[in-house]
Amino acid sequence: MKRSKKRSQKETKHSSLIIRWVSIVALTIMVSFIVFSVIIYSFVGQQSMVQQKETSNEMVSKLNSSLNRIPNQLEIANVVPALTPSTREVLKGNPPIGSDERKSSAFNDDLLSSLTNPDLSVVVYNLRQEDVFDNGGKILPFKKIKSDYEMTRVNKNHKQELITYQKVRAAHSGKVTGYIVVANKMTYYNGLMKDLLKWMVRISLIAIVFFTLVAYIIVRDIVKPVKEMSRVAMEVNDDPNSTVRIRDFHRHDELQELAVSFNQMLDRMQRYIDQQKEFVGDVSHELRTPVAVIEGHLNMLKRWGKDDPEILEESIDASLQEAKRMQHLIQEMLDLTRAEQINVQYPNAVTKVSDVLKRVVGDMSLVHKDFVIRLDMDDLPIATEVQIYQGHLEQLLVILIDNGIKYSTDRKEINVSAGLSQDDVHIIVQDFGEGISEKEQSKIFNRFYRVDKARTREKGGNGLGLSIAQKLVTSYHGKISVESVEGQGSQFIMQFPALSKAQSKKLHKREQAEKAKKDKKETN
Ligand code: ADP
Repeated sequence: MKRSKKRSQKETKHSSLIIRWVSIVALTIMVSFIVFSVIIYSFVGQQSMVQQKETSNEMVSKLNSSLNRIPNQLEIANVVPALTPSTREVLKGNPPIGSDERKSSAFNDDLLSSLTNPDLSVVVYNLRQEDVFDNGGKILPFKKIKSDYEMTRVNKNHKQELITYQKVRAAHSGKVTGYIVVANKMTYYNGLMKDLLKWMVRISLIAIVFFTLVAYIIVRDIVKPVKEMSRVAMEVNDDPNSTVRIRDFHRHDELQELAVSFNQMLDRMQRYIDQQKEFVGDVSHELRTPVAVIEGHLNMLKRWGKDDPEILEESIDASLQEAKRMQHLIQEMLDLTRAEQINVQYPNAVTKVSDVLKRVVGDMSLVHKDFVIRLDMDDLPIATEVQIYQGHLEQLLVILIDNGIKYSTDRKEINVSAGLSQDDVHIIVQDFGEGISEKEQSKIFNRFYRVDKARTREKGGNGLGLSIAQKLVTSYHGKISVESVEGQGSQFIMQFPALSKAQSKKLHKREQAEKAKKDKKETN
């Protein structure tokens, strides 16, 4: 119950991830659209307003150029003839302008057509602020202005209007004779701006809904695998032995890669857990025998042995032997654990194979004087080097030669040979002992595996030597194998990639740099 509550809380967090991402996308689109719309709106508005101002100014300047020819104060009597050419002609005593004459440039008075523009309301005031002319449009109230010209924008019922004031000055005297007031309703401008705003809001809303939907689909597609990974992680967290894994997402992207790595990590973790369990089981099993033997002897001593020098001697010897065996076992277990971390410890170690072979064979011959240990390096160029820590190559040779000696029969001979073929170094340790059956050959590299438990124990074997050897060899990218015939003998073959001169130089350099770094750290 508690767990499901916890889980649903975690799941809410995940869904909030979708909400967060979608909101961010929607907000970004909304802001971008608003900014874009504002820019377009103000740009179109500005351009259109320039046109409207031009229309108003044109009207004002046409009126002004007709009215400033009047020398006296503006009155109906002088303004009307000045503004309508037909009236002017009639007043001069001529017949009204005919349609043919009107077409000619002299009488083509576009002032008239401007005056009939329904957007424009024109009023001419005299100095007494009386309306002396208007084009029938709205009568705008008189307003005193300081300068000769003034243009203002007024907002009425969400509609803009442009009002222009102009003082009329007589051309020859420069005296103010009247005032012109032109109001521009800007129907086109107001309509355009209204439509533009309406469409922009519509398009923005559609875009926000559409992109939010698209964003939701995309984000959900991304979050789904993340959710699945989280579910698997939680399940494994609850039960480390769980075999649940992330299923294939059928996609070729980073998320699929992550899922594969995640599964590999879980498999590896599982393997470690299994190994750990197995190891603890094996170790306790292995330690049980020597502890039981020591306990048995101590009990015997306690009961009768103290007074019997023979039993005393025998029990102490046996206990000491078991203690030694335990010590040996613990050392081997430590070696096994260390063998798993080699790459981290000695990443740049380089070893000259011939030197190590000579040294180990020499040492082993000294210790086992009853054995003939031969060394054959005819096929190995003397300078051949491999990427391995010297101490580990020595350890490997000791394990194999020691086994050859341990499991020998009458023929007390060991042959160690080395050679180079196709960029690989082969090291072979051959004995003529009891041999290993084909069935057993695949098992001898397993931890604590012994072909004949009782006999091996007699010989001091714990079944860890080959297991350590295999871990070491594979850690250095090598291979180890066995060829054996029961009753005739065995040969163990190790194979390592040989280093080219350039590779070895590079590794030597790195090793030196590493060493210098370490020394520096220590002195600090
Ligand atoms: P141990 O310490 O018992 O020798 P190893 O892991 O080295 O453990 O070997 C595992 C088993 O493989 C040994 O118990 C032995 O039965 C068998 N074995 C190993 N090397 C040889 C060999 N050279 N000849 C015959 N049997 C061998």
